[in-house]
Amino acid sequence: MRAAVYHGPRDVRVEDVPEPELDEPTDAVVRVTHTAVCGSDLWFYRGDSDRETGSLIGHEPMGIVEAVGDDVRSVEPGDRVFAPFKASCGTCEFCRKGLHTSCVNGDGWGGDNGGAQGEQIRCPHADGTLVRVPDRYADDEDALRSLLPLTDVMGTGHHAVVSAGVEAGDTCVVVGDGAVGLCAVLAARRLGAERIVAVGHHEDRLALAEEFGATDVVGERGEAAIERVLELTNGGANHVAECVGAASSMETAAEVCRPGGTVGYVGVPHGLDGGLDLFSFFGDNIGIRGGVAPVRAYAEDLMADVLQGTLDPAPIFTKTVDLENVAEGYRAMDEREAIKVLVEVGE
Ligand SMILES: [Zn+2]
Ligand SMILES: [Zn+2]
Repeated sequence: MRAAVYHGPRDVRVEDVPEPELDEPTDAVVRVTHTAVCGSDLWFYRGDSDRETGSLIGHEPMGIVEAVGDDVRSVEPGDRVFAPFKASCGTCEFCRKGLHTSCVNGDGWGGDNGGAQGEQIRCPHADGTLVRVPDRYADDEDALRSLLPLTDVMGTGHHAVVSAGVEAGDTCVVVGDGAVGLCAVLAARRLGAERIVAVGHHEDRLALAEEFGATDVVGERGEAAIERVLELTNGGANHVAECVGAASSMETAAEVCRPGGTVGYVGVPHGLDGGLDLFSFFGDNIGIRGGVAPVRAYAEDLMADVLQGTLDPAPIFTKTVDLENVAEGYRAMDEREAIKVLVEVGE
């Protein structure tokens, strides 16, 4: 099969690799039809994080079930499914408490199960991992494009605002205008936030944030951004969603959080080697919650809203490439030409 292979910083190639096969009776093989390039893929792409040369990449798969092991009950060949960026069993202590990313039987993509930016994957723990798209929408291309972000960024943005404790009527600040931040805006609106302040650096992305429901956008940088948010919120918001993961965005989140409020953080931490300055949280009793998003826990609820037409993250896909041109997708995201790239793999 064809699959994207990592060869080193800024060197992604599509090559022939062995097809994954059923291994455990709980496995399914899925023929990938849609996948995406993630902001988190840019860390290894830019050489900012280590990744083994020759490894398969991608972690946001959607496709058609090709084969299932003897113990798989929830899906069968021909079903349209998608999978989160982590496989999970659905039955262990942590899956049961909705923390599927801590599944004791969990697994990521990219090893011998195939990367999600390839023609096929072997999905471990298919019953726990795969989310089946109702038959009525199984070939509805618009619905599929809107569901694809549930593999990662939509669930992650949702986790940020849930972790920040956003409820109906609240004011929420979203720090970051990448795909996750934009999805956090959608999620905050979905939860009924009355005021949503989006903070970012890109005019086009902030415009999309407004389309998604942000009531205010702040495009200033550094101190000026903080001052502007404090002005807009009369001294800070009780709920702040941090969707970048950089030291500076964590600091901004703390600064714009109202004393006693909560920062929900989901950005993969990077550039924090010097540590996080806890004093900005300490002084005003600001809580920090969040972490890697258990997107599997949110998939059914978010899917229901997408399918009834009240939630649509599809506009984050500002570029579409086919699998053979996935390197162009990485380049476009690296150079910030695209917010997020959808990869069409096959029918
Ligand atoms: Zn991702
Ligand atoms: Zn589990």
